Amino acid sequence: MLVVTALDITERDEAERKLLHQANYDHLTNLPNRYYMQSYIGSAFARAKRGRSKVSLLFMDLNNFKDINDTLGHGIGDELLKQVAERIRSLLRAVDTAARLGGDEFLVLIEGLVKQEQAEVVIQKIIDSFKSPFYVESHEIYTSASIGISTFPDDGNSVELLMQYADTAMYNAKRDSSRNYCFFSHELREYIDQQLAVKKHLIHAVSKNELSVYYQPKINTRNERIIGAEALIRWHNHELGNIPPDIFIPVAEKYGLIEEIGNWVLETACLEAGRWHEISASPLHVAVNISPRQFRSTAFLDTVRTALTASGLSADSLEIEITENLLIQDTSEPMEILNTLHKMNVTLTLDDFGTGYSSLSYLKQFPIQVLKIDRSFINDMMENQFNMSLVDAIIALAQNLGLQLVAEGVETKAQLEYLRWKNVNAIQGFLFSPPVPAEEFRALIRQQSSSPERS
Ligand code: C2E
Ligand code: CA
Ligand code: CA
Repeated sequence: MLVVTALDITERDEAERKLLHQANYDHLTNLPNRYYMQSYIGSAFARAKRGRSKVSLLFMDLNNFKDINDTLGHGIGDELLKQVAERIRSLLRAVDTAARLGGDEFLVLIEGLVKQEQAEVVIQKIIDSFKSPFYVESHEIYTSASIGISTFPDDGNSVELLMQYADTAMYNAKRDSSRNYCFFSHELREYIDQQLAVKKHLIHAVSKNELSVYYQPKINTRNERIIGAEALIRWHNHELGNIPPDIFIPVAEKYGLIEEIGNWVLETACLEAGRWHEISASPLHVAVNISPRQFRSTAFLDTVRTALTASGLSADSLEIEITENLLIQDTSEPMEILNTLHKMNVTLTLDDFGTGYSSLSYLKQFPIQVLKIDRSFINDMMENQFNMSLVDAIIALAQNLGLQLVAEGVETKAQLEYLRWKNVNAIQGFLFSPPVPAEEFRALIRQQSSSPERS
């Protein structure tokens, strides 16, 4: 017979207490965890209601944690998180609570406020506290935080919504590098409402055939001939009209729709490009934008293989455009996936170069073959000396590293001439053609194939 009475009462209490602690506390920092906070915030709201006071939720996230982890190692990263937790905790009054939500994300709950602005004092204290370095082993580490704030009952009264609002405000603070914190606001609420409206329709966009792919020619700078095209998604909804991808792609990413939509684009673009050789004298490639979320699973590789097989397109005619956001993710998955794609002969292009971290180490670490200079620099480089020198620097960098260069957003002859003089390999932009429907792009190819290349 099994012995089931082995634990005496105190031992059992102890074990239960441990389990409870494990479920509610973060083992690294010993702060309450996300799970615990969900119910705790609810009780804080109830207290505030009785006391006619306010509660502010501060979502905070470290700004360069990934870099620290990458360069100094996870052990140091963990120790830093512990110290950050300790520093925040030491600034708070007994009634306030700090928690760790996961990764480098913390939550601070400030209770008993009469006015939302009172929270600002605490926020300022937290921000100031990051001005002095952390010491981990022999390293002196500087870091900073972005903070988003939502307040009960001003912004709403559901725990879930207020957490979402604080999160949104935090992303807003992160986007705007000129400030460290951001209160949830009326404008942000409108932004969320718009996103929710878009999401409602976007869910059915694939099944209702509302999506299409346009193609923008990529031009060889030297002889001005089409060498391929970038596939750009278009969405028309009967209620919302035409919605630009800059609006709906972030929504698709946020609400888990990007995989379905992204896969559809990949399949559609490969099928289309698979037909081009019938009408083109020279081989053409197709470039597809892939958002970081699509790289979350290795299923992405299967999608690529399936799209290639189904279309008969050879892998070396496929180019994948990624952004730096992908390269700074905390997991090693992107690296493995990119390496596999590279081995398959798929071309990898770093899009929007110059707008993000533009870190040299990424260019060395990842198998990137092409740099795409962001259109915001090309746009005014002939008038803006600073942007011109940035473009020059990017060109020199790429050429030193043996990378191909594409300039996007080329609108004028002068820009083209300059880029040609600088030996930029390819250009893309309204000067030559905007993105056009598949049929029109085929017409462009036919036209070119009937006019032989000048030498
Ligand atoms: P992107 O990848 O940087 O794409 C280039 C954008 O520049 C396109 O906007 C294109 O229409 C626009 N453009 C091209 N030539 C010119 C020019 O000469 N001047 C100016 N001012 N703009 C030019 P679009 O099609 O609205 O796409 C916007 C963004 O949406 C894309 O930026 C890309 O990040 C995203 N996107 C588009 N299609 C997809 C897709 O299938 N998947 C994913 N994940 N993202 C996509
Ligand atoms: Ca692109
Ligand atoms: Ca771009």
